[in-house]
Amino acid sequence: MPREDYIATVGLEVHCQITSNSKMFCGCRAGYGHEPNTNVCPVCLGLPGALPVLNKHAIEQTILAGMLLDCHTPEISKWDRKNYFYPDMPKNFQLTQFDIPLCIGGGVPLYDLAYPKDVQNKIPNPGKVVKMNRIHLEEDVAKSTHFDSHSTIDFNRAGTPLMEIVSEADIDSADEAYAYLKSLQQILIYGKISDADMEKGQMRCDVNISVRPVGTTELGTKLEVKNLNSITAVRKSIEFEIQRQCDEYDKGIAQQQATIRWDDAIGETVVMRIKEDSADYRYFPEPDLLPVLTGELVEKMKAHVPELPHHKRDRFVKEFTVSEYDAGVLTSERALADYYEAAATGAKDSKKVANWLINTVLGKLNETFLSIDQSPVTAVALRDLVDLVEAGTISNNQAKDVFTALWESPEKAPADIAKSMGFEPADNSAIEAIIDEVIAANPEKVAEITGGNPNLANWLTGQVMKVSRGKANPKMVSDSIAGKLGL
Ligand code: ZN
Ligand code: MN
Repeated sequence: MPREDYIATVGLEVHCQITSNSKMFCGCRAGYGHEPNTNVCPVCLGLPGALPVLNKHAIEQTILAGMLLDCHTPEISKWDRKNYFYPDMPKNFQLTQFDIPLCIGGGVPLYDLAYPKDVQNKIPNPGKVVKMNRIHLEEDVAKSTHFDSHSTIDFNRAGTPLMEIVSEADIDSADEAYAYLKSLQQILIYGKISDADMEKGQMRCDVNISVRPVGTTELGTKLEVKNLNSITAVRKSIEFEIQRQCDEYDKGIAQQQATIRWDDAIGETVVMRIKEDSADYRYFPEPDLLPVLTGELVEKMKAHVPELPHHKRDRFVKEFTVSEYDAGVLTSERALADYYEAAATGAKDSKKVANWLINTVLGKLNETFLSIDQSPVTAVALRDLVDLVEAGTISNNQAKDVFTALWESPEKAPADIAKSMGFEPADNSAIEAIIDEVIAANPEKVAEITGGNPNLANWLTGQVMKVSRGKANPKMVSDSIAGKLGL
């Protein structure tokens, strides 16, 4: 049967490190780039008899994540042991949450711009909110690295606070999974909960995939792709796995529930082991930790809820009169949204500021491999520059030259650069005189213009620009001509 005769069902489990100075159950320093095995203690090494202590900040940040994603936080949340043979966790259980996690339910709104570029103009379910199951808090494991003849293990990562964000099986395609991850990332970054950088391993993803024929209701057998660490790998592995399962369905081959991994080098999934169920983990309540009473924490975190990307986008449309699409671009990154808001507030024309930011500044940043935080041209300087154009002090083309100079010498004021480049505000009376001269010298053109060909006025503007040697502002000149000729 063709691919369209099958329905794919995808669920995502996202592990995301919480930005925190210390680990989840001990006071050791959390973070990157330190000498291996230096941020360790009996608790995060899993030595017998060591007792865990809760990281309040991590609990608060998880509750905040739940608020941003419309989850519900139960009044009491508890801790459990997940037993397993963990090569990178010597105590052989993970401290996690089983039946009463910190956040229940909720959903992730999918942003249009979060889809891969090639599908943005044919998004199947625009505005969809993917249902979530829960968010629980747990500890990360140590990091093992495998070489030809030996392996190493670094316990600096062991015990890092880790949120597990579990979606319902509510995703229909690889593109939707991609948008889910991008949108989720954006929201967590907006909330300053995590940097959610997949390249740094701060966000890792397991994907459950099943297919079933159209017209049937029972879900097919699901296969779980483990530990994907790039959004592209998520998209590719889902595409591959859906196609593979459909092909096997056609041939009458039944799927067996299994854990698989994505091999990027060959572009295929490979079976690792036949999957265990939650009963295999022998979950039981953690005897060394009391449950958390969440009431006070929930109240406290209400004050920390930031404006979310889609709310900010709607506000930008209203407040700064930018298009919905431009507002989407401007709010796609929190740092960019902050930059724009700083530049547009108090600007003569906030829409022009958006155009300059999107076309000129982002273009130049892209060319020079810089992020918006690293932009030499500050938000204030950009506003001043665009204001110069709006005030008629310099033309749009002159502003482009000023921008290039400003990029090299960001300590200078745009107005000073314009002056030093000879883009002085033209002497209005002199320009007016030139306009009058040009009109007087071209009676037949003027007759044509007033006789029904107003577009020809551009020709007069061109003459004035020529005579003024480019010093006049073309917009002011054409306005003035239009006034004088009653257009
Ligand atoms: Zn420790
Ligand atoms: Mn987990």
